[in-house]
Amino acid sequence: MAIRIDGKAVAEKVRAKVAIEVEELKKQGVTPGLAVVIVGDDPASRTYVNNKKKACAQVGIYSEEYALPASTSQDELMELVAKLNAKKDIHGILVQSPLPNGLDEKAVVEAIHPEKDVDAFHPSNVGRIMIGNYHFLPCTPAGVIELLRSENIEIAGKNCVVIGRSNIVGKPMAMLLLHNNGTVTICHSKTKNLKEVCRNADILVAAVGKPKFVTADMVKPGAAVIDVGMDRDENGKLCGDVDYENVEKVASYITPVPGGVGPMTIAMLLQNTVTAAKSQNGLK
Ligand code: NAP
Repeated sequence: MAIRIDGKAVAEKVRAKVAIEVEELKKQGVTPGLAVVIVGDDPASRTYVNNKKKACAQVGIYSEEYALPASTSQDELMELVAKLNAKKDIHGILVQSPLPNGLDEKAVVEAIHPEKDVDAFHPSNVGRIMIGNYHFLPCTPAGVIELLRSENIEIAGKNCVVIGRSNIVGKPMAMLLLHNNGTVTICHSKTKNLKEVCRNADILVAAVGKPKFVTADMVKPGAAVIDVGMDRDENGKLCGDVDYENVEKVASYITPVPGGVGPMTIAMLLQNTVTAAKSQNGLK
């Protein structure tokens, strides 16, 4: 039976460390500040934003919420981003995705100052991740690396398979595994023999967005299986991309959903906000 990696507990440790860093910064006259922008009334986005604000408050990070109606124009949104870029008490800017139809998300991301781009989605930060010289790591993939570290799971020299090639999870995940000297394969909807490719993985990361997509016959006995998915099962219950019940019988490590990667994403966002506050104030 696989060891269940407790994302909540690991995230709690990261948050405790962040809280200490925030306290230290406050002694030096700097309070890390995060602006969270939400446009429209998507209920899932509202939940994410609420969770992020709550997490900020818990570690002493100052946060501001900008809730805009779905009718907001591109110009209005760009103006807000420009205002936040200039605001001295705001070190990180996060625009919750998805934006309502008609708004150009790519343009908004590119308008955020790269040093305030705590999601690490700006092309300049994406490029920095590629060359391994970054201000911030993208929150979800960075959280996955922390989870692997928490169990001393060796990445170097291991076959790592990432299912999914999105810009926010799959691609940066693959890059971070590569930076940690994994031998990385990226799979997607056009991959042939997916099962065989996955069965070769010592570390298998699922970022597909399809409930229980990864079945036990796709997993190498003894593999570490990390489930990034946040899906709904046939009863509307939150579940991951991995068929947990059956895969845990084959894997050596597995992350649950909820309580695995999800809590890490927010913890890494807090960490990035502190990093941003330090660098914008010339502190280490
Ligand atoms: P996405 O943009 O929809 O990407 C999904 C990826 O899966 C695509 O690259 C797609 O391939 C691939 N895929 C789809 N069907 C496949 C198949 N049959 N075989 C192999 N690959 C297939 O999704 P995302 O934004 O990366 O998110 C993935 C999941 O992670 C979602 O459940 C999301 O909710 C979750 N998520 C969780 C967190 C967290 O904090 N825990 C954060 C972000 C996302 P193509 O490129 O060929 O279409």
